[in-house]
Amino acid sequence: MPKVGVVAIQGDFEKHIDALRRSGLNHHQIVELRVPEDLAGVDRLIIPGGESTTVGMLMKRFGLAEAIQKASEKGMPIWGTCMGMILMAKEIEGREQFTLNLLDITVARNAFGAQVHSFEDEVEVEGIGEPVTGVFIRAPIVTHTGKARAIARYRDKIVAVQQGRRIGTSFHPELTADTRLHQYFLDL
Ligand code: GLN
Repeated sequence: MPKVGVVAIQGDFEKHIDALRRSGLNHHQIVELRVPEDLAGVDRLIIPGGESTTVGMLMKRFGLAEAIQKASEKGMPIWGTCMGMILMAKEIEGREQFTLNLLDITVARNAFGAQVHSFEDEVEVEGIGEPVTGVFIRAPIVTHTGKARAIARYRDKIVAVQQGRRIGTSFHPELTADTRLHQYFLDL
């Protein structure tokens, strides 16, 4: 019986919680994470969309960042959507910003331009079958991959990566009715 932690400092964590319920989890299996103690008993982790500078700073201050890094080293599956992927990246283009350094990638924030605040379109994700609807909101793209593998591209830009049990997506599957990516993550 999986127990999934969702980082709940800021951002669209409630949408992930809804999506996990729709994926068949009950409320005992979903934990809102704010401080390191909340990780007790959690066996996988989602970092939602939000504001990466704020959440990164607070995660570090609360000690949650270090606790997540340790859990990840021991093999805990982690999935970051949008802000979550930014926080998992090794590097951010043109900025010195705190990250967890869990995915060997470089990301560019707000990479689709300020005018294109948000949009949605079909995206093919390796291992998922039929395309998913990618909801992109001030979305980042992956501009370089080291050990991480690209598992989705949109107009030639990398928008999803996997490195072992770590996944990052530029888009927000939690904002659609489709739970296939949540299921994929739960099966990792
Ligand atoms: N652009 C935001 C950031 O850099 C991420 C946006 C999102 O998570 N939807 O933190």
